[in-house]
Amino acid sequence: MSGAAPVGRFAPSPTGDLHLGSALALLAAWASVRSRGGTFVWRVEDLDGPRAVPESPERQMADARWLGFDWDHGPGLGGPDAPYRQSERFELYDEALRQLAAAGRLFPCRRSRKDLRALASAPHGASGLPPYPARWRPSELAPDWFASLGERPDCALRFRVDDGPVTFADGVVGRITEDVRETTGDVVLKRRDGVFAYQLAVVVDDLAMGVTEVVRGMDLLDSTARQVLLIRALGGTVPAYAHVPLLVNAEGEKLSKRDRPPSIRELRERGSAPEAIIGWLAGALGQIGGSAPRTAEAVAATWDLTRVRPDPVLVPADIADRFMS
Ligand code: GLU
Repeated sequence: MSGAAPVGRFAPSPTGDLHLGSALALLAAWASVRSRGGTFVWRVEDLDGPRAVPESPERQMADARWLGFDWDHGPGLGGPDAPYRQSERFELYDEALRQLAAAGRLFPCRRSRKDLRALASAPHGASGLPPYPARWRPSELAPDWFASLGERPDCALRFRVDDGPVTFADGVVGRITEDVRETTGDVVLKRRDGVFAYQLAVVVDDLAMGVTEVVRGMDLLDSTARQVLLIRALGGTVPAYAHVPLLVNAEGEKLSKRDRPPSIRELRERGSAPEAIIGWLAGALGQIGGSAPRTAEAVAATWDLTRVRPDPVLVPADIADRFMS
């Protein structure tokens, strides 16, 4: 991650208040860009209407500001690549699908997850489902198949993965090689119910917004190879990637509803100090020895990606008490 001024982004799904895990990714993404005088973009990933909580984006942005973050472009602020809400960017996703269809990389699919699950003997990939079998692709497609799809075509659209193993360098995890044909196979880009897939929208938006580095949570590491293939198929430049550790409980498990620490909003309302939260996050990212209070600004001033370890970070059960000022 060097060279010209970077462009980074934070792209939360508006499904609830910011929590500690998302704040960790936000701190890393923001400090990485701010430490090198780059541009930071806030994007609302509200593709899935029914799951989106209407007041979430405003609450998330308010809590991020309270933690000490700022951004150059985003909802409400505008910017050269507005709008910054995915629900207002469907034309771009349609255009990308058109481009992929014209290049022979897209096909209509009427198989269900149930069909896939029924392939019980096949090895299961990252999604817990076997990879989409190439034999299920249509053997022939009419030249105008894409143009003649109606508004609600009752089929999913899948990206055809013909590529061999893909390799990318992750700034935290290191070099990763994945053969997407064996892990997930052909990728859904638009669901049968008409919702654009995250994999498509994230790639189209990162390209359109000139994002040069993607810093986000480890849970998205296994989406990255698919995204690299899509970027290549769309003729874009692959950004630098860095996936920051997940937060886990004492048993080493992903935080559940039961042991998840209070949201940033709740911490704020209970009288926590933003510097206490940022200090703990900076410690979790290996930026400081302990977890003494820090401002986001101070973390950016000495930011060093090479100090971030990929291992999951334990969240102590009494974490909220430590944040009290
Ligand atoms: N919207 C995704 C999430 O909230 C993040 C997407 C990304 O950073 O690529 O998990």
